[in-house]
Amino acid sequence: MSDILTVRHLFGPGPTNPYPEATEALARPLLGHLDPQFLTVMDSACEGLRKVWGTENRRTLPLSATGSAGMEAAFVNFVNPGDPVVIAVNGLFGERMCDVAARCGAEVTRVDFPFGEPVDPEKVAAAHPSPKIIAAVHAETSTGVRSDIAALGALKGDALLLVDAVTSIGGIELKADEWGIDIGYAGTQKCLGVAPGLAPFTVSERAWERRVAKPRSWYLDLGMLGGYVGEASGATRTYHHTAPVAMVASLEAGLRRILAEGLDAVRERHEAAGRALQDGLQEMGLELFAREGFRLPELTTVKVPEGVDSAAVRKELLETYDIEIGPGVKEYASTVWRIGLMGPNACPESVTLVLGALRNVLG
Ligand code: PLP
Repeated sequence: MSDILTVRHLFGPGPTNPYPEATEALARPLLGHLDPQFLTVMDSACEGLRKVWGTENRRTLPLSATGSAGMEAAFVNFVNPGDPVVIAVNGLFGERMCDVAARCGAEVTRVDFPFGEPVDPEKVAAAHPSPKIIAAVHAETSTGVRSDIAALGALKGDALLLVDAVTSIGGIELKADEWGIDIGYAGTQKCLGVAPGLAPFTVSERAWERRVAKPRSWYLDLGMLGGYVGEASGATRTYHHTAPVAMVASLEAGLRRILAEGLDAVRERHEAAGRALQDGLQEMGLELFAREGFRLPELTTVKVPEGVDSAAVRKELLETYDIEIGPGVKEYASTVWRIGLMGPNACPESVTLVLGALRNVLG
């Protein structure tokens, strides 16, 4: 047993430090998962999620698992064996989508872009004459790149647009309805500023009508989950699985915190922190990795200077300053760092702290 209670500054690709309101909610007396008071909390969480997704979708709910389960649910509920699915890949999470879709039996057309670059919507839309689904990652956490989902939505034709918003939700502009997102999944541990454990999910009516009749996953079958959240407020709740009551309460508190500040203000805070960090890194002589004009404010990728041991720097930041930053992924594991300023960490104090510590460590 360990009783270590170190407080880390979580400036990596996630999880981030949660908002205090989200942490406090975890410690509230536990309610039963069918308690009328808890159902009010669930309703409020779903309502808050609709706001951060930018949707009126009735079917918007927190799945009881992390973002990857959101990805699984997105494919297993909408892909029948043999369905053509186009997936844009400009990082690790696009690659993961290909694996998940193929496991569901999809005929995957993979459209690759170099890591560090956004996806090109025209190329993706032209990759197949009649796909059932076109899928892309809005904010690629592995590379720090934002892709243009609105443009992809305008070109989707009859296809369903499936979007990973794990690192964009609550941090940068996200307009599910306006952009034509039909199936979307996200995570709680990034810009929403809540611990990992839930996958905010949303489905358009258009996608709902084309869902798989009997998905191969029992747990992630959205048809069965409708009853779990009451489908729409006021409908009868049915038992499907025991809701992670404390996590839903925490998400609800985090969402209320965000909406009280105002979505625009929260996004501007992420934008300002990211810009200040990226300017500061460049002033230190460091080079950014992601293409200019497509850089995420909430997740900055920066090249490790020549001759510097990237793992040793991360170790010293952790041990001396309690600061966690992330390594790059795959072939960039030792040549790129990933610095996240998400949720409550998207603030000037965090920028100053991480820049100062990095300056000290690099000498
Ligand atoms: N998609 C993106 C863009 C992510 O950044 C992550 C996690 O970092 C995931 C999917 C998977 O989410 P999780 O690790 O919560 O399962």
